[in-house]
Amino acid sequence: MKTYDFICLGGGSAGFNAARIAAGLGKKVAVIDGAKQLGGLCILRGCMPSKTLLYAGEILHHAQHADRFGLRVTGARADMKAVHARKKRIIGDFARHRVEALTGGRFDLYRACAWFTDPHTLQLSDGRKLRGRHFLLGTGSKVSVPPVPGLKGLKCWTSDDVLDLDFVPKSVLVLGGGIVACELAQYLNRIGAKVTLIQRSPNILRDHSEEASCVVQKAFVDEGIELFTDTKLQSAASDRHGFTVKFLNNGRLVTRRAAHLFNALGRDPNTAGLGLAAAGVKTRPNGQIIINRWQQTSAPHIYAAGDCSGPADIVHIAIEQGILAARHAAKVKGLKPVDHSLLLNVVFTDPQLATIGALERDLDEQGVNIHCFSGPLAMRATVRDLLRAPWYHPTLAEIITYPLEDIAAQLD
Ligand SMILES: Cc1cc2nc3c(=O)[nH]c(=O)nc-3n(C[C@H](O)[C@H](O)[C@H](O)COP(=O)(O)OP(=O)(O)OC[C@H]3O[C@@H](n4cnc5c(N)ncnc54)[C@H](O)[C@@H]3O)c2cc1C
Repeated sequence: MKTYDFICLGGGSAGFNAARIAAGLGKKVAVIDGAKQLGGLCILRGCMPSKTLLYAGEILHHAQHADRFGLRVTGARADMKAVHARKKRIIGDFARHRVEALTGGRFDLYRACAWFTDPHTLQLSDGRKLRGRHFLLGTGSKVSVPPVPGLKGLKCWTSDDVLDLDFVPKSVLVLGGGIVACELAQYLNRIGAKVTLIQRSPNILRDHSEEASCVVQKAFVDEGIELFTDTKLQSAASDRHGFTVKFLNNGRLVTRRAAHLFNALGRDPNTAGLGLAAAGVKTRPNGQIIINRWQQTSAPHIYAAGDCSGPADIVHIAIEQGILAARHAAKVKGLKPVDHSLLLNVVFTDPQLATIGALERDLDEQGVNIHCFSGPLAMRATVRDLLRAPWYHPTLAEIITYPLEDIAAQLD
């Protein structure tokens, strides 16, 4: 049986970056990934395809409303075969780059699913077994199906399906009002689908202030999205004509039908079937792996990072956590935990929203006395100050971190 210093379960943002750092520190490293296609959620079915498509939708929207700018654009519409081909080409380039990095020889790559049989042994689905001194769990997340009567058995769309459309759907019911629901509802509407969005809480994007959410809500309604907030889902069903959803809204039962149903009600940690009990790794009731500030689980030689351990499903957090875990396992001195007080929350709707740090709502709940103000901000930052800031992915702004890192390396 082969033995490694550091084994990453999952080759996504968390696992790949942990492996890269551990290998750089001279460790003998393996990455195990059971996906048919390598690349992880961000590249294949998350950030990259969604932002590629949102931008296509935005350009179409501007073209269709070009008269506002004194421009004439006639016949602007989505050629979905071309939109789909472009998306595949773009994510194909990113995925190819990741595959090259995973197979470049810095570590061993195993294309298999794996689970623990004891705290130091992984069983692979191809029959092999591996032993490790340290492990990094980076197994990501999966779409959750809340207990709405009828929902579980339905063949409804997830974000994976919406991101892979090569036609304009006639009509779509979107369940949920979080980031993925809102970004993709606006995209679907802009390419020409009739969209109804059904959200439980009184406002969409509830991590943001009511004032900010209302700006996006108004934009959605102005663009023609039918929006229901403050609802309680009662049932979901399908027949050969499409889908029917019933929900309570303002004390009355509302029924909506559409050709497609998009479940955007959130994601759960992907941790079932990993044999965590055999490894001594504890989870919360929703399956989220419990970690300390060094990313260690209840079995201190096993680390976790990214969506499977939280606290946020955000790429730069997954990367930072994976890197920290690899360095901690290698006993690098002077480490600092990931600073979640600078948590970023970015919504790529049009208009866009973003928060950094504690939410006004949470501070209010904690009874913290806060002052609100609005205005421009400027600081005399050094290269290292700027590198300490979190940079949201994928944005053009994060490109600045590459020259910053080069400059910082020259100053070291
Ligand atoms: C539609 C959408 C849009 C998003 N947009 C953004 C955005 O704009 N910005 C942002 O920061 N975040 C965004 N996110 C979230 C972001 O994609 C995730 O937070 C991030 O990709 C998680 O990385 P990860 O390494 O934790 O998991 P993943 O990248 O999912 O990697 C997990 C890997 O583990 C493998 N695996 C799982 N179980 C096993 C097993 N038992 N054995 C072997 N391998 C296994 C899987 O095959 C997979 O490759 C978006 C998510 C979605 C769904």
